[in-house]
Amino acid sequence: MSITIHPSVDKGIKPAADNFSGGTLKCKCSSDPVQVKVSSQCAHNHVCGCTMCWKPEGATFAQIAVVPSDSVKVSENEKKLKVVNEDAAIKRHACTDCGAHMYGHIEDSKHPFYGLDFIHTELSDEDGWEPPQFAAFVSSIIEAGTDPNKMGEIRRHLHDQGLEPYDCLSPTLMDVIATHTAKQKGVL
Ligand SMILES: [Zn+2]
Ligand SMILES: [Zn+2]
Repeated sequence: MSITIHPSVDKGIKPAADNFSGGTLKCKCSSDPVQVKVSSQCAHNHVCGCTMCWKPEGATFAQIAVVPSDSVKVSENEKKLKVVNEDAAIKRHACTDCGAHMYGHIEDSKHPFYGLDFIHTELSDEDGWEPPQFAAFVSSIIEAGTDPNKMGEIRRHLHDQGLEPYDCLSPTLMDVIATHTAKQKGVL
């Protein structure tokens, strides 16, 4: 059985380029695409199995990374963008024509990831973005219809690709969230 994860993984993971400083994300519309200029390398890039992250056609996982919020600027066709779910902590701005999520922004200054925006680096033609480092929310792909009996094979495949599978975020990011919570409570 061939396992498909995401085009950026299945076609061979490309390495990050030294001194890479970002690129332009374009939505999938063939005319008047939304364009978002990102003037920074990304961090914590990963594949994500959750049902909220945008996935390209046919992909089992999304690929998602963070960049500083102030490095994200909508440069073309901003009027086509709409927030997918106003109640979510991450305001995912999607193209109303093709559905691609262009950036996710956090407005709550108490959120552990405040100051960072979420982007899908495959929407940019530039090579050199930090490639995915791990797989998050792996069990959630079952919620989108993956056969639970295939999970062992999928986790082994992710591991073999260098994408350690986790059923939440990576230990590093879980520690960031817990540290933030502890500081807010005053126990740290
Ligand atoms: Zn579009
Ligand atoms: Zn996700």
